[in-house]
Amino acid sequence: MKGLTPRALQREAQALFTQLQKWRRKIHQHPELGFKEHRTAKLAAEVLRKHGWDIKTGVAGTGVVGVLRGLPGEKTFAIRADMDALPIAEQSKAPYCSQVPGVMHACGHDGNTTMGLGAAVLLARHRSQFKGQVKVVFQPCEESPPGGAEAMIRAGVLHKPRVDAIIAGHMDATLPVGQIALRAGAVMAAADMFKLTIQGKGGHGAFPHRSVDAIAIAGHVLAGLQNLVSREVDPLEPAVLTIGQIQGGSAFNVIAETVTMRGTLRSLTPAMRRELPKRAAGIAQGICRAHRAQCRFELEPGHPALYNHTGITASVRAAAKKISGPKGVVELERPEMTGEDFTYFAASVPACFFRVGGRNAAKGFVNDWHHPAFDFDENALVIGTAVMVQTALDFLAV
Ligand SMILES: [Zn+2]
Ligand SMILES: [Zn+2]
Repeated sequence: MKGLTPRALQREAQALFTQLQKWRRKIHQHPELGFKEHRTAKLAAEVLRKHGWDIKTGVAGTGVVGVLRGLPGEKTFAIRADMDALPIAEQSKAPYCSQVPGVMHACGHDGNTTMGLGAAVLLARHRSQFKGQVKVVFQPCEESPPGGAEAMIRAGVLHKPRVDAIIAGHMDATLPVGQIALRAGAVMAAADMFKLTIQGKGGHGAFPHRSVDAIAIAGHVLAGLQNLVSREVDPLEPAVLTIGQIQGGSAFNVIAETVTMRGTLRSLTPAMRRELPKRAAGIAQGICRAHRAQCRFELEPGHPALYNHTGITASVRAAAKKISGPKGVVELERPEMTGEDFTYFAASVPACFFRVGGRNAAKGFVNDWHHPAFDFDENALVIGTAVMVQTALDFLAV
């Protein structure tokens, strides 16, 4: 049987551009927050159904899973796309900007979903050119833990048929359009949250000696915590401690009884992940004790670190080179300390998370993820789609 050449695949993906753009803009105009992706899920289900995929809807809430059978074969290759938007007011004059006040696709999940749909359409056309099954997983709620990935895995998405490998492409407007970026090994960090409650004793602002000032103590705690990463962590090991919120006090002349601080702890290794909260709690509690205050430290675990599988990453790399040429593939030197719940898939089966370049300075598409003016060059959709299809066809080669 004559296979589909990368050139022919690229042409087919290019011919799909208008359709990809239409889907992307429709999703972009109607962004939906985590577990509320009803319209987006409906669109995904409609496209899959129309192209002959067996589908399951309502998986872990709004998730949609499609299965496509090719020639008889044992292996199953999966593609994951996240569907949720963020609670950010979009700053855009684009005709396709968000129509939902305060909600926008600032992380490019509209693009991720669209590439998943594009791949679904092309794979359906070529089901006689691969052996086994392809599964597409449209996932709710990537942005806030507990996200949709874990819930979908619990709902059995990696079984029946059992998934042998999974990939996820993520739109990235800091990487030039036309490029794919990836690396094997560590890609993103474990991202945990914590809450510190400092309990002092309230009183009149004129009588500090009869009170225990939680705000003054919070200042020491904030400064003391900076010592954790700078003085206790190996300089060659990545770790982050950020306090993002401090709340306390009710009036200028009242000594605050309590202060709460919320922050994030990020790391790449399990040992560091265990150590950081222990020491953060120890430092905060020690400082509070020294100043006669109580301190409660609560850890809210987030996602573990994301590691790309060497073999599957090599497959995506090879496929991306066929589509974008050797210069179109960028090897990421380092992981980043952001988090991503694709990590749950990667912990279960060989997986690769890769970035799809959508940067185009001439068109103003240069902003980082979660920026209120985030946008990307839609030509990226063609490349991302083609890379996903190529990787699937290679993995399930006849
Ligand atoms: Zn995001
Ligand atoms: Zn994202």
